[in-house]
Amino acid sequence: MRNESLNPESVPAGLEHFMPPTSPATSSHAPGTLVDKYGRHITYIRLSITDRCDFRCFYCMAEEMEFLSRDQVLSLEECLRVIRSFVGMGVTKVRITGGEPLVRRNALWLLREAGKLEGLKELVVTTNGSQLDRYAAEMHEAGVKRVNISLDTLRADRFKAITRVGDIDKVLRGIDAAIAAGFEGVKLNTVMMRGVNDDEIVGLARFAVDKGIDLSFIEEMPLGSIDRSRADTYFSSDEALELLRPHFDLVSSAETTGGPAHYWRIPGRRTKIGFISPHSHNFCDSCNRVRITCKGELYPCLGQNDALPLMPVLRGHPEDDAPLVQAIVDSMGIKPKGHDFNDQIQDPKVVRFMSMTGG
Ligand code: SAM
Ligand code: SF4
Repeated sequence: MRNESLNPESVPAGLEHFMPPTSPATSSHAPGTLVDKYGRHITYIRLSITDRCDFRCFYCMAEEMEFLSRDQVLSLEECLRVIRSFVGMGVTKVRITGGEPLVRRNALWLLREAGKLEGLKELVVTTNGSQLDRYAAEMHEAGVKRVNISLDTLRADRFKAITRVGDIDKVLRGIDAAIAAGFEGVKLNTVMMRGVNDDEIVGLARFAVDKGIDLSFIEEMPLGSIDRSRADTYFSSDEALELLRPHFDLVSSAETTGGPAHYWRIPGRRTKIGFISPHSHNFCDSCNRVRITCKGELYPCLGQNDALPLMPVLRGHPEDDAPLVQAIVDSMGIKPKGHDFNDQIQDPKVVRFMSMTGG
């Protein structure tokens, strides 16, 4: 699909450089690209297309959840307008997430349409894997380049306890379907939790190596309040690395997949082991992304509460993307310097669960 209204040459007068008013040096950024007031170039969006999920992971959701009604959620056409607008402003990577994105009806339509956008180099999806045995091949055909699949344990009983309702066999079939579909990358995501799954860190890494896929370990973030203290289960990337070292020959790598993970290579193996360490190795200086919730709220930072509502702009101007572009430019002015998760682990101030903001 061509993006006529958002070609840099045809943007509304005054928006040519997509810079917030207080932005510093502009010379290193190409015209027609999005830059925040700290000079960070925004090239990546994460869009949550639903708050619903077929699992209830205890670190991500409450057991009893009230989900949004249909009219409170962006339509898939509105999601496409948002994606198209960002791509018109130089965003090259879009992650579709949720909730569980693959439980949204017609999610594949959105993937197919987004997959046709000129300028979008990386269309990627984060999923819990439960629907992948049905959809992996079609997602690959739609142009999805890489898939991240969450897997916190290999034990069926523990999987049920963490997800409250999930069936690990379905997810394992989904992982195999994703590998067979031929994506450029399949990566597992594991949230590390002391006393919950820290005894499986080596086993999960071995599983990824045997499958020839990547794996990122994630430090748990203080998002939304749950029925335990996250400080009690906090497990750092450095601790995990020490557990892995005796079992794998790990070589630090400068590779990046456009995200905050630091990767380690295992010579002779395809697998990269990554660590996403929002607590122990803050990566805000190089932040290149913003998030959009399924309600159309644009969150410039996962760890802060400031957001800009895009839904009124989308619904108020159904035929004209210029106000949407302006709202996105304005959001650059509220992107904060960074999060303060370390202070928040004792005293959380972000009340949204990850399923709301889009992980
Ligand atoms: N349902 C999909 C899934 O599970 O992959 C996509 C959405 S989920 C919110 C995205 C990722 O966020 C998952 O890998 C999940 O483990 C992670 N996540 C959720 N809550 C988190 C938290 N408090 N800290 C760190 N990661 C979290
Ligand atoms: Fe659902 Fe993903 Fe949250 Fe688990 S982590 S409850 S699968 S959205």
